[in-house]
Amino acid sequence: MLKRAPRRGRDRRAEVLMPAPGRGRCAGEGPETAVVGGGIAGLAAAVALAERGVRVTLYEREPVLGGRLAGWPERLADGSTVTMSRGFHAFFRQYYNLRGLLRRADPSLSLLTGLPDYPLRHRAGLTDSFARVPRTPPWSALGFVALSPTFGWRDLARMDPRAALPLLDVRVPAVYERFDQVSAWDFLAGIRFPEAAHHLAFEVFSRSFFADPRELSAAELLVMFHIYFLGSSEGLLFDVPNEPYPAALWDPLESYLTRLGVRVEKGTPVDGVLPEEGEGLLLEAKGRSRRYDAVVLALDPGGLRRVVGSSPRLGDAAWRGNIASLRTAPPFVVSRLWLDRPVRADRAGFLGTSGYDGLDNVSVLDRWEGEAARWAARTGGSVVELHGYAVAETADRALVQKRLLARLHEVYPETGEAGIVDVRHEWRADCPLFPVGGFRARPTVRTPHPGVMVAGDVVRTELPVALMERAATTGFLAANALLERWGVRGHPLWTVPRRGRSGVLRALAALG
Ligand SMILES: Cc1cc2nc3c(=O)[nH]c(=O)nc-3n(C[C@H](O)[C@H](O)[C@H](O)COP(=O)(O)OP(=O)(O)OC[C@H]3O[C@@H](n4cnc5c(N)ncnc54)[C@H](O)[C@@H]3O)c2cc1C
Repeated sequence: MLKRAPRRGRDRRAEVLMPAPGRGRCAGEGPETAVVGGGIAGLAAAVALAERGVRVTLYEREPVLGGRLAGWPERLADGSTVTMSRGFHAFFRQYYNLRGLLRRADPSLSLLTGLPDYPLRHRAGLTDSFARVPRTPPWSALGFVALSPTFGWRDLARMDPRAALPLLDVRVPAVYERFDQVSAWDFLAGIRFPEAAHHLAFEVFSRSFFADPRELSAAELLVMFHIYFLGSSEGLLFDVPNEPYPAALWDPLESYLTRLGVRVEKGTPVDGVLPEEGEGLLLEAKGRSRRYDAVVLALDPGGLRRVVGSSPRLGDAAWRGNIASLRTAPPFVVSRLWLDRPVRADRAGFLGTSGYDGLDNVSVLDRWEGEAARWAARTGGSVVELHGYAVAETADRALVQKRLLARLHEVYPETGEAGIVDVRHEWRADCPLFPVGGFRARPTVRTPHPGVMVAGDVVRTELPVALMERAATTGFLAANALLERWGVRGHPLWTVPRRGRSGVLRALAALG
């Protein structure tokens, strides 16, 4: 069990969670463990186990590591070889455990570079920015209201203060008990959150869950609000890798794993897991089965459903039923364009967009990614990426791609003149959906089988984490749970505080 460490001084910016005591390393050869899934969650679990002397085999279905941040080489029409990927990701500064994972291979995080702002533009013409907003609550919220053109003091006055009080002191996991049965949309309507500012809440928070706010649990929205506004001191500023994901992140981490003795089996989908009499497990992959002492399932929701579905003796009926009911968010597209001319010099590296017919954000890769910058410098062009989330299953995909391009021309008019040297469109649907009332059915790290753990961004935790940080945190938690079973000390974890940071706001929230 993780215990909260005694607080040092008065610094309440983050909490440290100390693992249960135990030996520093496994005795002898160490138990054999399979980690299934080579995304962030699986990589975190593999690192955390191997560092304590566990013998780990990491299975990844695809030929490359990184999961939803994987990258692979592509040859463009102009003959250049570039790295295509699953698309832009913001590495927020309160992603403590993800950063801890990346530090294993890059101790100073030299491969991350900060973007100066997180601008959000609404089609009606308003642009919000987070660069100048103070980071300490309550000033973060007040400063945002003061500086935002879409959210003013008058809007604040029109909100229903009583209904809005829960925003001031979000407590995890209690927030799920109170708000998981309400949709993000209904919650915002209930507090009379100003219409014009809806895009802030939806684009920054719920759209990053790839879901329609009418379908998303309000509890997830409140947790996001806590993580970025009132619960932490880092705000909404973030870093991005300054080279493509494989070069910056996964190749160095794979070398680190290999040095620890981890066997990395890429291009190897796992078909099923069969519990043996006693405590061992047989893992089926590529027509062969191999025995392990423990298994970590670090899969996307579809992958988890499939592996558990084809492992009929794993877990119990209730657990299996819950896994079968997990939902995947609607499809989304990442379009990357290599253009024959630059975008205007003052364009941001990343721009969140709202009201643009399904265009959710635009990034200009050559502003921050070395490989794209070198291509742009050599050709005089630019590399631009467009994301469109929560696309209807039945949508005409070619039409959606065309529409995103037309919206880019509207957002950055100079691109309307540009020729397209080459383009790639990545359509996927592998993100979890957090539907209203779905919290209880989500798997926890521990399962009914003491030797099987689950990790990933779909997993339910008692910590205020989301997305990549939830993947990393649950990967470490899965490893810690196994290490505790073997009497070995796990890894300390960090989290933004599990309740509101400001005493004044907590007192106000208590009035509700
Ligand atoms: C376009 C896009 C933008 C995003 N932007 C952000 C962002 O800005 N900030 C943020 O924090 N998060 C963002 N996310 C979310 C983030 O990518 C995920 O939260 C995170 O990558 C999840 O990691 P994971 O390890 O849980 O799952 P995954 O990365 O999905 O890893 C699961 C792995 O399991 C493998 N697998 C599946 N089935 C099998 C099998 N049978 N056998 C073996 N392997 C299997 C898969 O191939 C995959 O590699 C974004 C996601 C997308 C798609």
